[in-house]
Amino acid sequence: MIPPAFDYARPTSLDEALRVLADGGEDAKVLAGGQSLLPLLRLRLAFPELVVDVGRVPGLRGVREDGDTLVIGAMTTHHEVVRDPLVRRHAGLLAAVTRTVADPAVRHRGTFGGSLAHADPAADLPAAVLAMDGELVVAGPGGRRTVPAREFFVNYLETVLEPDELLVEVRVPKADGWGFHYEKFQRVAQSYAIVGVAALVRRDNGRIAEARIGLVNMGATPLRATAAEQALADCDDAPAVARAAQSATDGTQPPRDTSGSPEYRAHLAQVLTRRAVLTAAGMG
Ligand code: FAD
Repeated sequence: MIPPAFDYARPTSLDEALRVLADGGEDAKVLAGGQSLLPLLRLRLAFPELVVDVGRVPGLRGVREDGDTLVIGAMTTHHEVVRDPLVRRHAGLLAAVTRTVADPAVRHRGTFGGSLAHADPAADLPAAVLAMDGELVVAGPGGRRTVPAREFFVNYLETVLEPDELLVEVRVPKADGWGFHYEKFQRVAQSYAIVGVAALVRRDNGRIAEARIGLVNMGATPLRATAAEQALADCDDAPAVARAAQSATDGTQPPRDTSGSPEYRAHLAQVLTRRAVLTAAGMG
C-alpha cells in the first residue's frame, strides 16, 4: 500500500533534530532504519504529519567503551552490532541476540535504538538489554536523561519516550566473566520469536551465583523473569536448573495469536529458560 502523505525533515545536527521534533509535537515521528515505521505507514497503521529522518545526525552511530560500560549509539545498525569487536568481547549476549534478528537486509537497515524505541514485545533486543541491566540515554528539549531499561518499556509499543525526545545511546555494563545464551523459538527461519529467552549467568565454585533472564513475547512488554532468577541462585546441576526454570512464567501474561496460545507460550518459556541457562552456565 501507499503511505499517507507526510512532511519530511532530514536534520543534520542533534540540536536541529530536537528543534524539528519539538515543532512537530505529537504529529512528528522519528525515522531511523525504517524497518518497523515504514511497514506501519504503508499499512496505514501510523499517520504522522512529519517524519524526521535522523540518519544524518552525527554522533548517533557506533560503539565505544566508557570504563566498565559499553555505549552503543542508537543509530548503530543490527549488522554493525553483530560485527563489533567490543560488543563481541564485552556483551556477547547482544551479538548473539542481534544475529537472530530477521535477515541480512533488515539487519543492514534496522537500528539498535529503533528496535528499543519501537518496543515490540516480540522483538529480540529489548529483552536482551533488560537482561543486561542496560540504561537508555534520551535527549530532549530540557537536556538528557538516563532511563534504566526496567523503566523504559511501558506497554505494547509504548515507552517513556516523549514525542519531542530522541533515544541517543544505550549503555550496558560489560558482562566480562558472564556466560550467555539466547534461545529463540520460531516457526520460520528469520521471523519473530514465538517466545525468546536471553540468559546471562555468573558461576562461582560450580554453582550459579547470579542469573539474569529476559523474556521475549511473554507479555505486553519485554520482561525479566525475576522469580526464576531468584530460584536459580545456588543451583549446581541440571535438575535444579530445570526446577528453577518452572518459575519463568511467574508474573507473565503471554499473548494469544495465530502462533500459539498463552499455555503453549508458558510451556515454551520454561523449556527455553532451562536450555538457555544450562548453556549459558556451561552445564548443558
Ligand atoms: P524505525 O522503523 O525507523 O522506527 C521504529 C519506531 O521507533 C518508530 O516509531 C520511530 O519513530 C521510533 N524510533 C526509532 N529510532 C528512534 C530514536 N533513536 N529515538 C526515538 N524514537 C525512535 N525485529 C526483531 O527484534 N526480531 C526479528 O526477528 C525481526 N524480524 C523482522 C522482519 C522483517 C521482515 C522486518 C521488516 C523487521 C523485523 N524486525 C525484527 C524489526 C527490526 O529489528 C527493526 O529494525 C526494528 O524494530 C526497528 O528499527 P528501525 O531502526 O528500523 O526503526
